[in-house]
Amino acid sequence: MAPYQETNSLIAWLPDLIFTGGQFESGVALVCDSSGTIARIARVDELRNEKRINLTNRALLPGMINSHSHAFQRVLRGRTEYRTNDQQDSFWTWREMMYSAATRLTPEDIFDASRMAFLEMALHGITAVGEFHYLHQHPDGTSYDDPNLLAKEVVRAASDVGLRIALLRVAYARSGFETEPNTRQARFIEKDPEVYLKNLERLIDDVARGSSATAWVGVAPHSVRAVSLEYLREVISYANRLDLKVHMHVAEQPAEVSACVEEYGRTPVALLQTEGVLSENFTAVHAIHVTPKAIASFARTGAMVCACPTTERNLGDGVVPADEYFKHGVPICLGTDSHAQIDLLEDARELEYHLRLQKLERAVLDRGSSRTVREGVSLGAAAGPEPSSLAAALFDCATINGARSIGAPGGTLEPGKAADFFTVALDDPSIAGAATNDLLASIVFSLSRAAVREVVVSGKPIVSDGQHLVQEEIVERFGDLQKRLWS
Ligand SMILES: [Zn+2]
Repeated sequence: MAPYQETNSLIAWLPDLIFTGGQFESGVALVCDSSGTIARIARVDELRNEKRINLTNRALLPGMINSHSHAFQRVLRGRTEYRTNDQQDSFWTWREMMYSAATRLTPEDIFDASRMAFLEMALHGITAVGEFHYLHQHPDGTSYDDPNLLAKEVVRAASDVGLRIALLRVAYARSGFETEPNTRQARFIEKDPEVYLKNLERLIDDVARGSSATAWVGVAPHSVRAVSLEYLREVISYANRLDLKVHMHVAEQPAEVSACVEEYGRTPVALLQTEGVLSENFTAVHAIHVTPKAIASFARTGAMVCACPTTERNLGDGVVPADEYFKHGVPICLGTDSHAQIDLLEDARELEYHLRLQKLERAVLDRGSSRTVREGVSLGAAAGPEPSSLAAALFDCATINGARSIGAPGGTLEPGKAADFFTVALDDPSIAGAATNDLLASIVFSLSRAAVREVVVSGKPIVSDGQHLVQEEIVERFGDLQKRLWS
């Protein structure tokens, strides 16, 4: 059969510009097959029988990957922005407020809150999320009949919105080293690693049996504070056997580092290094308060770092030493974490901006940084000055690196990759007037959400003309939840 006779089931997306191989090209179409995979990027004059979807005045980019989310924390937005006592407010006082919300949510509330967070992600051009999920039990610590009920509510919410999701099931065993149990952590705690692993295994089976291939499971030992070393070893050994992605909060707060030194005589990263936990499957979330040795350990083992700058600035965590990570070739991905704000491009630009404020310099990450080298499909000619390598590096954090961190199938627009992408309106006031070679920098540093028009996952539109199909219902139900929760 001649290849062109197979093209009836193919769809060709025709925007003005497509971001391929690190640059925007014109005169090309993204051709997707019926399984939601990119078949090829073709010159428009080479198209045959494909069904055409014209996207006038649009640029098309790979969907972004949100590598670290606690979806239920969306209910806290705007409700913690005040001092709680006469003392200093901090991450730890915020955490108590977060716990008070976490203990009051029903399974249905968790579905509604998660759907709201995922809807907002979709409207921003995010197509996959890594959900660091730690609500497992009833508020009193007893198990639901299905010990994965709450995890499944979150997966159902992602599937309802149309996002891909890596459900990173959290292992949480204790309040901390020589720390009294905190009753408000009862929903998280599975004291026995055997119980955790049994529930994890069941979740893996159940998610795999689900109708869609858009959800999968990874593991997330919460932190060196929340699991003992023996517990951690068992979880990691299971993850290694199944080649699962491993995410862990690491060095978000100085107090967490000093508690680890007190317990083990080593920093968290040194401990993880000597225990053989660091690997290409490992992502250290935050990794702010680290030593040069720790950065070298990440580089040597292929571990990644997930920065969450919009949350880190909200919680007063500190600044991720992204310049050092870039220098050592440690890939950084991004997460919206507590959802004080959901805009992954804001996280991308803050990675750079926080360093500018700290160092009184500009373009800090452009020094010594290099773009991820990859095979691109280049069919068009780019004119004018070179595009910003800084913008490209930051956009890679939001796409390619995120896909690697959570094991998502997208991240770039290449044949064989998932057809996960979003478009932006070129006449949106936030980016209007950008030349082709300045467009990525305009998007990374200045894009408004209103500019995001279509969002497509596995070839299927989930956002059209800036609106999600069930947006009204999701927002209304979330409004009702917030009224009940806070009145
Ligand atoms: Zn987190």
